[in-house]
Amino acid sequence: MKGMQFYIDGAWRQPMAPTPHPVFNPSTEEAFTNIAWATEVEVNAAVGAARRAFAAWANTTKDERLDALRRVISVYDRRIDDMAAVISQDMGAPMDLALHAQAAAGVDHLRAFADSLDGMSLEHAFRPDMPEHHIALEPVGVAALITPWNWPMNQISLKVGAALAAGCTMVLKPSEIAPMSAVLFAEFVDEAGLPAGVFNLIHGDGAGAGTALTTHKDVDVVSFTGSTRAGIAISKVAADTVKRVSLELGGKSPNLVFADCDLAKSVRYGAALCFNNTGQSCNAPSRMLVERGVYDEAIEIAAETASATRVDLPMRAGNHIGPLVSEQQFAKVQGLIEKGMAEGARLVAGGPGRPDGVNRGWFVRPTVFADVTPEMTIWREEIFGPVLAMTPFDGEDEAIEMANDTDYGLTSYVQTGDPERARRVARRLRTGMVQMNRKSRASGLPFGGYKQSGNGREGGHWGIEEFLEVKAISGWPT
Ligand code: NAD
Repeated sequence: MKGMQFYIDGAWRQPMAPTPHPVFNPSTEEAFTNIAWATEVEVNAAVGAARRAFAAWANTTKDERLDALRRVISVYDRRIDDMAAVISQDMGAPMDLALHAQAAAGVDHLRAFADSLDGMSLEHAFRPDMPEHHIALEPVGVAALITPWNWPMNQISLKVGAALAAGCTMVLKPSEIAPMSAVLFAEFVDEAGLPAGVFNLIHGDGAGAGTALTTHKDVDVVSFTGSTRAGIAISKVAADTVKRVSLELGGKSPNLVFADCDLAKSVRYGAALCFNNTGQSCNAPSRMLVERGVYDEAIEIAAETASATRVDLPMRAGNHIGPLVSEQQFAKVQGLIEKGMAEGARLVAGGPGRPDGVNRGWFVRPTVFADVTPEMTIWREEIFGPVLAMTPFDGEDEAIEMANDTDYGLTSYVQTGDPERARRVARRLRTGMVQMNRKSRASGLPFGGYKQSGNGREGGHWGIEEFLEVKAISGWPT
């Protein structure tokens, strides 16, 4: 694969400084390939290509952009198995998860954007009785798309699909930790025959290529998914050129389990969802709040779920979990498990170290802590590993107060058999998304958070609107 090249202006280009940066297989801890990192010259070349392509792409009709999106979807559909294999090797997702969730999410989002664009009115009268005042929604310009490693194609598609639909041109900089799915995606775009310069791909880290993009005078909008730390840094440096910045950041999502729910199903589901993708999901339900009357029973079910969660090699079929993505992530998760124990939380499953019999790869043990209190680090910090923190509550008000008492506001989960309570609680939770009674999300729903989980929305027409300016024209000839 073309990791040592960049895709700029419709062609694969050799780097100026072809220094190889290793990409590691999380199961073996060995480098399996290399990528080159872009210098300022290549960042300028990629942004320049996007800038030159902008006028023509912005002027395309909705049907032309729909056609381009559908061509990308068609290549993606045909090569979805290749995409799953690349994602699995790059970031350690087991093959079934890589294919049916990770790779599938990427193409599902593209399809949902095609549907949304199809249904959007990009020009219309301000009001039916005032046709001389006209509203036009126009692409913002050149977009810098910066993505993380944990759901790599999910996040790339949420950005590329929306930017393409809106008529923006773009430079994608994927995570330097798991960049190879982006390389394969650039091959799909190339095969789909998009006009040169509309989509460009470069590599690099946050301090280098990332900052060069977010401070670039010819970048009009930055769409970023990643840590709250990086989101804050990007907002600050992007302010100098008044760029639009759309942020999808971290989370510490609460799961409120009321005694009137189907307890066994709900707790098993909540724990499994927390461990899914080895806990590396921004919307993982990592804090489980349980009504006191059923708390002990819930702890037992969660601990059993953790013990029954198999940890195995990503290339094997099955619904096990794989390793964490990197040595750094492994050290961080180990440190937080130890901190949980040191701060007095009660370890009821898992714990520090690798699973029994495993001596290489960044594999960790699905872990459950009970009696976690609000001031403990593992209650407040995003762990990004398969670690569940449980605590009891007395009554709805206390549950909501504890759930909302966090700097984050991405997703909340609610388990209750009472429809009135479900509606009441959902309205009071300060998060961009609420998922109740094990209902999964549909493609095209808006994804995004309140508070320090970000300020953007991805998916559907909301995602496309992040890349659109609103123009008000008065004196429109009628
Ligand atoms: P990260 O912030 O370290 O890196 C994400 C991307 O940003 C990478 O491409 C990186 O190179 C780049 N980057 C880092 N610092 C930068 C800077 N100062 N300027 C420009 N670019 C910079 O995050 P990560 O470790 O790759 O991903 C994990 C984080 O992402 C978690 O906090 C997780 O919750 C969050 N996340 C959020 C969502 C969401 O939609 N809310 C989805 C997935 C992951």
